[in-house]
Amino acid sequence: MLLIFPSGSVFFFTDGRYKTQAHEEIKDAKVVIGQRSAMVSAAEWLGTRRKGAKLKLKLGIEGDHLSVAERRRLVSQLPMHISVREAPPLTERARMIKDADEIALIRDAVRAGAELFDVAVDSIRPGTSEVEVAAEMEFAARKVGTDGMSFETIIASGVRSALPHGRASRALIAQGFVVCDFGVILHGYCSDRTRTVYVGSVTEDARRVYGAVLEAQLAAIDAVRPGASVGSVDQAARKVLRKNGLAKYFTHSTGHGVGLEIHEAPRVAKGQPELLHPGMVITVEPGAYLPGKWGVRIEDMVVVTEHGCEVLDPTQKEFIVI
Ligand code: ZN
Ligand code: ZN
Repeated sequence: MLLIFPSGSVFFFTDGRYKTQAHEEIKDAKVVIGQRSAMVSAAEWLGTRRKGAKLKLKLGIEGDHLSVAERRRLVSQLPMHISVREAPPLTERARMIKDADEIALIRDAVRAGAELFDVAVDSIRPGTSEVEVAAEMEFAARKVGTDGMSFETIIASGVRSALPHGRASRALIAQGFVVCDFGVILHGYCSDRTRTVYVGSVTEDARRVYGAVLEAQLAAIDAVRPGASVGSVDQAARKVLRKNGLAKYFTHSTGHGVGLEIHEAPRVAKGQPELLHPGMVITVEPGAYLPGKWGVRIEDMVVVTEHGCEVLDPTQKEFIVI
């Protein structure tokens, strides 16, 4: 847990289990090793430090990262003159723009993650289960030395490909699309990518929908540039899908920021006014999901540059039939 003071001083609280790691990894904050949980220690420390203070103080918390029970515990530990408020998303905003070192680390994570698609293509066969494919990918990710997966691997085949978040299940792969959405964590930074392949004899309809989603993804990537709103990127993808009669099957937002966490600001969604700036790293991932039939999604990570954007590790996304 971090306490940030308006003066700029920062204190990092943890417990004895993380003592060595904290001293090794925390660079710009003073490390405080507490006897109890990080939050209780921080509250106690704040209480003793501000003992006797008459002035009312406000402690801002990150509402997205604190449960109701934790908030209650925090309030019960704090002295009366410190009140708790929900703070504006300062750290999220600071993290939106990545510096050159962070972009280099993200680039490495994307490269390591991208290789897993070859493993998926080698493992996807009719009769193989989705979890077996995910297991091969996750084993390969570990072998190349990543810290782990950035989220639960999505391998959604057949009718399950119409579930935008179809985590790998015991379902056996048969004819139809297989959505593979996967990412790794390397040196603390996340990667995120989706590729969709087709198993068995292809229908015209499948080719048409795949082509439309790819066109939507390319149009959205084309719309990524400094000064453009994230809403306009979302709009670019939606426009192509609308033209193809698929707008109502695109049921989620076009993308999200990625960095230390898999989902960061900004949310690349309909009507969002946030403007893009060089150094932002976002995903572009439109899809079309036809319930009871199948679905397609194509996702890349892009970094906003001075004049447009760069697709991180641009590898092929042509229609692949297995
Ligand atoms: Zn993804
Ligand atoms: Zn994503």
